Order: sequence, then C-alpha cells, then structure tokens
Amino acid sequence: MSVPVVLVSDLTRRFGTRTALASVNLSLPQGAVYGLVGANGAGKTTLIKHLMGLLRAEHGSVRVFDRDPVADPVAVLSRIGYLSEENDLPGWMRVDELMRYTQAFYPTWDEGYAEELRRAFALDASAVIKTLSKGQKARAGLLVALAHRPALLVLDEPSSGLDPIVRRDILGAVIRTVADEGRTVLFSSHLLEEVEAVADHVTMIDHGRIVLSAPLDAIRASHRVDDRVPSLAEIFVSHVGARPPSDADA
Ligand code: ATP
Repeated sequence: MSVPVVLVSDLTRRFGTRTALASVNLSLPQGAVYGLVGANGAGKTTLIKHLMGLLRAEHGSVRVFDRDPVADPVAVLSRIGYLSEENDLPGWMRVDELMRYTQAFYPTWDEGYAEELRRAFALDASAVIKTLSKGQKARAGLLVALAHRPALLVLDEPSSGLDPIVRRDILGAVIRTVADEGRTVLFSSHLLEEVEAVADHVTMIDHGRIVLSAPLDAIRASHRVDDRVPSLAEIFVSHVGARPPSDADA
C-alpha cells in the first residue's frame, strides 16, 4: 500500500492552558475527498496549519507526502493548493497579475485551466483585488489554489464568503473533479449539509479531539435505525451533543 498523503500521529497542541488539539491521529490515503467538520473553535484550522507547516508539531508528528512540512516546506507546499479562511490576497494586484504572480511559484501551473476557472468564476481579469466583493475574492483565492493542479487541495472553510449558488455548483464540481483525477482534497467546514454532499470520508472534531472518522457510507450504515438513515447533522449531534451550525451561519 502506498504511503498516505497526510499522516498525523498523536498530535497535541496547546495555546497557554487551552488544548486546541488532543492526541489527534489522522491518515488520508490518496484520491478521495475528506471533510473535516466541527463547530467554531473545534481545532480545524490548527490542524490544517500543522499540515501546511505554519505550526510545528510540539507533541506528536505530522507527515505530508511522507515529509515533515516544517523541515521541507518547498517539497510539500509546491504540491498543495491552499485556500485559507482569511484568504489574504494582495489587494493592489489585478486578477491577471495575481494569476501571473502565482504561476511563477508553481512549475505545474496550467494556464489554460487557470483561464477556464477565471471564466467559470466570472472574474474580470483587469479587476483590482481590493475592489472585489468577498465572494469574488474567495473565487480568486480558489482559482490560484487550483490552477497548478495540486496533488493535495486544502480548503479551510471555503464557503465563508461564497454565495449559496457558487458553493453548491462551483465548489462541489471543483472538489469532485480534483478527486476524480486521483488527487486528494481536505476541506474543513462547519456546514454539515455541504460536507455530506461532497465528502467521501468524514472526520468530526470536537474540542480538539477526533470523535469520529470514517467513510461517509460506513458512518451512515452504522447510524442507521431500521430503515432510516439519519443526516450527518443528526449524527454530529449524537456525537458532539450540540446542535450543529446551519447553513444560515455560513
Ligand atoms: P473556526 O472555524 O472558528 O476557525 P476552528 O475549528 O478552525 O474554528 P481553531 O482556529 O483551530 O478552531 O481553534 C482551536 C482553539 O485554539 C480555539 O479555542 C482557539 O481559540 C484556539 N487558538 C487557535 N489559535 C490560537 C492562537 N494562535 N493563540 C491562542 N489560541 C488559539
């Protein structure tokens, strides 16, 4: 069996007295869509920051493409497309300048695909980024995360700022395409309906602990009561004990 794209072992992270991650174990084999779900403050971003090498594992270990992302950032980051929650793009650049600028960092940048995405996202090439709406900025961030055809696409709460149509139609299609091409997607969300629609595998995190991690089909099958299969939101409540955040909170 090949080495998983992401392998996290016994990762614990504290900020002062607060435990953001508690003995997290996670193995993500190649070629699937992994949904990381949890309420605000559950630890999703902290986990993702470890994968990106933005935080060093203080306790436990993190391997991405079988490398340490802190010790070997170029080898790891060149193969990742990342859209952060903040999505801080240089405001003074035009969309086409952002595309050229990002292209310079990635030998695998696909110009034709980048242009295709720009059109699909209805982004004006000459628009200055700081003048874009939040949703347009999110689309621009998604474009530059995708256009180098990364082996691993990491999206941290990609829906914040995206309107429902973009979320459902574009995000879902993009994520599926990446996985169908044998690449791997990890995306975090507090929107359970969204995760349920697109993920192959779901990991639930609560107060820094993984409370459930399994293929979505297996989760559904194991929570089935007679003929009724509960929604992922209901399953989340049964494990976390709280009402899940809804679409209205996006
Ligand atoms: P959200 O969706 O709101 O970003 P999250 O699941 O991504 O939530 P994290 O951002 O990973 O959650 O935060 C996990 C916990 O760690 C929270 O209690 C948060 O306040 C705390 N935390 C995260 N980063 C820091 C930091 N740099 N300093 C102190 N505490 C932090």
